[in-house]
Amino acid sequence: MEFVENRILELGPGVFIRNAVDNATWADLGEGVVVVDALEDPNLAPVIQNCIRAAVGKPMKWLINTHWHADHTACNPIWARQGVTVITHESVGPPTLPGDGRPDITFHDRYTLRPGERAVEVEYLGGTHTPWDSVVYFTWAKVLHVADLFGWGMIPLARWDEQKVPRLREVLGRVLAYDADVLIPGHGPVLTRNHIRRWLQYFEELLAQVPAMARARKSLAEVAAALPPPEDMRDWWRFVDWKHGYNLKMLWEAYR
Ligand SMILES: [Zn+2]
Repeated sequence: MEFVENRILELGPGVFIRNAVDNATWADLGEGVVVVDALEDPNLAPVIQNCIRAAVGKPMKWLINTHWHADHTACNPIWARQGVTVITHESVGPPTLPGDGRPDITFHDRYTLRPGERAVEVEYLGGTHTPWDSVVYFTWAKVLHVADLFGWGMIPLARWDEQKVPRLREVLGRVLAYDADVLIPGHGPVLTRNHIRRWLQYFEELLAQVPAMARARKSLAEVAAALPPPEDMRDWWRFVDWKHGYNLKMLWEAYR
């Protein structure tokens, strides 16, 4: 699907995103609206609320944070002050001052929010991108929010850590097990499970080749020349621009 910044999309019945570099997601749960993630800029809090009012016309009641990165929590304090219940994984920490946007509800493995007919399931899949990562499944719509576990090609680790590789395979395997037609990433266009499958193949190819080349004292330029962006991934969002190169550099620096 073509990426048009700041476009509102309905991905399934009552499940909306404002598709952008930083995606905002919300869903109609009958008596109110659940929002997933709280963007990078607190000035966008009223903008998102206006979008929700126009799309659903019900109050925002719950906010689920997929992880505690600043670009996913910036509007937390504003929305918490308005009485929105903040839900996130327990590893983020217990509530601190009231109204500062810290979690009201935390969970261990899974949490189900079901105020009416529609259920939202949150599953903890942490330990790769951050210690806190969770995915959010809109059960009735077969839409899954995977946040930054998928980065349109980018290895979703802040820095390279070989010990996290088995967990990354496990986490993405769990993502693939969801009966989901549409997946929402933290940033950029929406995707399908096929993108996750393709990325795992690509990742294994990089792992099979880049460390060996780095150990053999190939330069980064030689590595990049030997491993151009795969043809079928060239239209992935920002992949050719920088994400593929970023991956090569991350691996090359770790093994040279
Ligand atoms: Zn993140």
